[in-house]
Amino acid sequence: MRTDPSRLEFQIQARDGAARTGRLRTSHGEVSTPAFIPLATTGAVRGLDTDEVAGLGYEMVLGNTFHLDLRPGHEHIGKLGGLHRFMNWDGAIITDSGGFQVFSLAHGNVSDEIKGRRGSAGNHGAILDIAEEGVRFRSYLDGVERFMGPEESMGIQAALGSDIALVFDECTPYHADLDYTARSTERTHRWLDRCLKWHDREGPTGQAVFGIVQGGVHEELRRSSAERVSAAAIDGISIGGTLGRDKDEMAGVLDLTVPLLPGDAPKHLLGIGEPDDLLNFIGLGIDVFDCAVPTRLGRHGVALAPRPDDRFRLNVRSRELAEDEGPLVEGCPCPACARHTRAYIHYLARAEELTAVRLLTLHNLTYLERLVRGAREAIEAGRFDEYKQAGLNGAAPWDA
Ligand SMILES: [Zn+2]
Repeated sequence: MRTDPSRLEFQIQARDGAARTGRLRTSHGEVSTPAFIPLATTGAVRGLDTDEVAGLGYEMVLGNTFHLDLRPGHEHIGKLGGLHRFMNWDGAIITDSGGFQVFSLAHGNVSDEIKGRRGSAGNHGAILDIAEEGVRFRSYLDGVERFMGPEESMGIQAALGSDIALVFDECTPYHADLDYTARSTERTHRWLDRCLKWHDREGPTGQAVFGIVQGGVHEELRRSSAERVSAAAIDGISIGGTLGRDKDEMAGVLDLTVPLLPGDAPKHLLGIGEPDDLLNFIGLGIDVFDCAVPTRLGRHGVALAPRPDDRFRLNVRSRELAEDEGPLVEGCPCPACARHTRAYIHYLARAEELTAVRLLTLHNLTYLERLVRGAREAIEAGRFDEYKQAGLNGAAPWDA
């Protein structure tokens, strides 16, 4: 680990068991932790303007190296003053390295991630070659051959000007065996060194770099990766890779991994953020989460709700809501709940009105912002366990 306040400062403010609150000082303002980070994959939190995202209480968003490089291109964004200026967002930005998306081309259709459709005709991306140097692939947009390795990923993130860059890695899938995961994790470690070497020479001053712990579900690999990544000159640590087939296995991998990481380092869990995950893993000492869930569910007519038996979801398109004059969730301060009935949003969602997507996205992001805000208050008051149990048992964040 390195400590360089000109890039990033992390101060832990209160502890309650392993859970903690803190302040992450980036080159674009401070972020209170534990924090949830909404995805602005393609340079926008889908359906919302940046002032709305800030108005919900968010201090950081996540942009995506892979998608932004394919369109509109990192040079284009660089020429227009970097990602903050391009999207008019004054807060902090963390950028994903693109490793997850590049490797997803081999395992699934990454264009679904932004197009939100499946099985459509057109140019689907494909992996052409994975080598020590990096990955050759075909763009899902135009079929043109592209290459991305550690230096390319860091170069793109430098042009975007994010406050926190992530190192280029391979996110090993659950079905990868021990041998493949071991070789992949070793290569990810060599790529970590190349990323840091490039960033030392050419990275923007003020940009922090987080390393990524891999190792899949294999205890020995998680141990060696945690040790190797913690020893590197990084400003913080993300936990990536498959965490297993279900929530029990995920909890097992994280129970093992988190205590192996330096206690005072900011810890980011990649791609996880359902309400029960946030409660459980804040309890383990994770500081930052990002996840597609609130925005993706919003596009699919689903509201987050204190309903543990239904995976904390309310299907707004359900006929049962057709004449329901209550809000999506009682007590929710979001614009959808403050101003509209379930019946109205049900009707909009079934009619596929854009307004339904916007209202549900505003609601879902409000729900998670209130959840992490409540966690911070509970940690400060020394009652996090009580808050967590109430939330897991079905209390809304503002009642827990
Ligand atoms: Zn609401």
